[in-house]
Amino acid sequence: MPPTPIDLAKDALQTGLRVLPFPCRTGLVRIGNPGRESPVFLTCNFDLTVRRVRRALRGLDCYLLVAQTRGINVWCAAGGGYMTANEVVSVIKTSGIADLVDHRRLVLPQLAATGVERREVEERTGWRVLFGPVQAEDIPAYLQNHYKKTAAMSEVRFNLRDRLEMAVMWAFPISVLASIPMLIWWRPLTLPLLAVIWGISAGTFAALPWLPSPLPKKEEASRRSAEPFRWVQKIPIFDPRLRPTLTVAAVFLAVLFAYVWLLGGREWSSLLGWGLAGLAVCLAIGVELLGSTPTDKSGLQEDRLLTVRLLEELCDGKAICQQVCPRGRLLVDAKQHKVRIVEGNSCVQCGACVVQCPEDALVFVYPDGRMIPPEQIRRYKLNMLGEREKAS
Ligand code: SF4
Repeated sequence: MPPTPIDLAKDALQTGLRVLPFPCRTGLVRIGNPGRESPVFLTCNFDLTVRRVRRALRGLDCYLLVAQTRGINVWCAAGGGYMTANEVVSVIKTSGIADLVDHRRLVLPQLAATGVERREVEERTGWRVLFGPVQAEDIPAYLQNHYKKTAAMSEVRFNLRDRLEMAVMWAFPISVLASIPMLIWWRPLTLPLLAVIWGISAGTFAALPWLPSPLPKKEEASRRSAEPFRWVQKIPIFDPRLRPTLTVAAVFLAVLFAYVWLLGGREWSSLLGWGLAGLAVCLAIGVELLGSTPTDKSGLQEDRLLTVRLLEELCDGKAICQQVCPRGRLLVDAKQHKVRIVEGNSCVQCGACVVQCPEDALVFVYPDGRMIPPEQIRRYKLNMLGEREKAS
């Protein structure tokens, strides 16, 4: 059934207010006419996600379990400790799915691998857990491929459409907040300001792949920690975390300057006002910009400095890590029966590989060499407001 106008209106509202949770009913959803051999999928109870997954599964006969994640999407819930083995075990037991199918095979979204420890769910329920594709749209092809993912199905794409969705997620609430004082005190300037907000937000996310990374490269990180003037980095403008934001701000100021210069007729004093307004919007979007993408860490999160290390002597080449890495960083050397970490800056420090490795062969390491034991990552995920540090 195609989406109804109400569904489309909900899609638009929940995309604009994506920073907020939108819980929907948990439990069992039947799709098509499922039978005793039909596949069983699981997702979070973020309303927008459930509607999208149902659309992606249209035409299949299957079951969908909706787990209690407090209305938060899979990636954020898994990273924030709201989608763990407990939520998965709970919905398996309360939905009665075991009475409806003869097999015990449950497909989870791959991005849940940061929070849901596969081994724990299997031990507590007897169900076999598979991590399916990153994108729900790939599920039909995944089933046709006998529950096997291609490399493309495992990687987060974050294409232009996804990025523009994130732009809406930032622009909409900022516009609402900014419109209130504008409509009261500066009504004629409301529309131009909204144009600035939406323009900066759309431009930032559209240009994201080409913006400078806030992550210092490995060599740069070690050089910086050895520099005698480390205090310089504490000055915001030299802080690498602000690189993307400052780049966007510089482009905005250049465009604004060119506009005033070329069209003329405007008081130069207004340039200052619009410049400051634009900077404020850049900062509002930029401070948590990367935290709202599945391809980068927020500039504020210390976890972005972690690197994954393989303890080769423990690796037995089962390669579960490879199936859950959303960035294609882990390859299996079939001859050696060992995993190999691909060099580069693309690791998003999600911890999925560390959480899922049955041999504890993957660990996170800080630039100063401190190692975080896998058990600590499983327990505190992406640090959960500093809880991991307190526990260490
Ligand atoms: S290598 Fe990095 S991106 Fe890949 S699963 Fe491990 S932590 Fe996540």
